[in-house]
Amino acid sequence: MLHVDTDRLWSDLMTLGTIGALPRGGNDRMALTDADRDGRALFAHWCNEAGLTVTVDAIGNMFGRREGSDPSLPPVLAGSHLDTQSPGGKFDGPLGVLGALAGVRALNAAGITTRRAIEVVNWTNEEGCRFFPGLMGSAVFAGALPLETALAATDRAGHSVGSELARIRANGSTPTGGRSVDAYFELHIEQGPVLEEQGVTIGAVTHSHYSIMAEVECRGENAHIQSMPMLRRRNALVGAARLIAEIDRIGRAHAPAGSASAVVIDAWPNNRINIPHRAVFSYGVIHPDAQGLEAMQAEIAAATAMVATETGLAFDTLFQRRRDPVIFTEELVGLVESTATELGHSVMRMRTRPGHDAFNLLRLCPVELIFVPCRDGLSHNELEYCEPMHCAAGADVLLNAVLRRAER
Ligand SMILES: [Zn+2]
Repeated sequence: MLHVDTDRLWSDLMTLGTIGALPRGGNDRMALTDADRDGRALFAHWCNEAGLTVTVDAIGNMFGRREGSDPSLPPVLAGSHLDTQSPGGKFDGPLGVLGALAGVRALNAAGITTRRAIEVVNWTNEEGCRFFPGLMGSAVFAGALPLETALAATDRAGHSVGSELARIRANGSTPTGGRSVDAYFELHIEQGPVLEEQGVTIGAVTHSHYSIMAEVECRGENAHIQSMPMLRRRNALVGAARLIAEIDRIGRAHAPAGSASAVVIDAWPNNRINIPHRAVFSYGVIHPDAQGLEAMQAEIAAATAMVATETGLAFDTLFQRRRDPVIFTEELVGLVESTATELGHSVMRMRTRPGHDAFNLLRLCPVELIFVPCRDGLSHNELEYCEPMHCAAGADVLLNAVLRRAER
């Protein structure tokens, strides 16, 4: 069994973490910002140093290719994303990219040429916090999202993905997708507490959860904050706030299996002298079972009707997307399990709650997602932390699983 250089992997993670560094130890490298540009440049440098040929496609996805003995065969892909939340941590994404790169270095050191090429991937805009939707680069690559739609997405300042890609020179010349891939592996921190609580090092992810993302509009009446009599006020912000509290209550009632939270809110006219006539907020619901998800959805609908009746405000769902679980490839789940066991690591099958680029790749090829523990299950937080030994354990499993697949 091959092993990655634990110290080098850790040093790479810490070095990348100096780009877009935040005071409490986290990172802010949102997609297509200057910090993302600098992170990409460092990754490209490390790829070149490891002898990889770097190409960038039209949505900015980066591929570092290590040629195989039969270049005509579809390659094995391994990677994740280098963009972060704002604020985000040092591990959500970078571990999968730099862990795969660490594996390539180990192959170089061992003088191994695999039959199939191996490509280390950095997917553009996984996080979706600046440009909606997230998992963007992998979605375009897999044919799940038209390139033009992705390029036209704008941030809150009105900058488009297309113009920001051009600004940071990440708009590559390679066509996006449209090629065969043998398999895709993604190493990621769990972003939850299960592995840590169970004392298990490797999670072989079998499938995901049922989820809903929705956007709700509450409509009231615009009025002067000082003169409108209190009992005649129809404050859209209050309606949104009451429903948000109900959604939180419903999430808690279905814990730990289910969860529900409101996240984003906008109010109009959003100034200090007016009762808001409009508020729009987004929320997300997740549950392992379809019945559980549907029960939560029904309770949210009932709560919406109740708040509308009690406040005289109008509610509309502007957007709703339900996702059923994706199921990862059994053969690769088994491969990760046996690889972890041979390396002497404890391993368990588990489900993922968050979405990952791996979901999109399932449209193209067999896929497996590999989890390692993170402290207190914390992610999307500056204090996100993964032990060096867990980073290395995950990268070792990734390396040996990729190697076996690439020798097929
Ligand atoms: Zn991530």
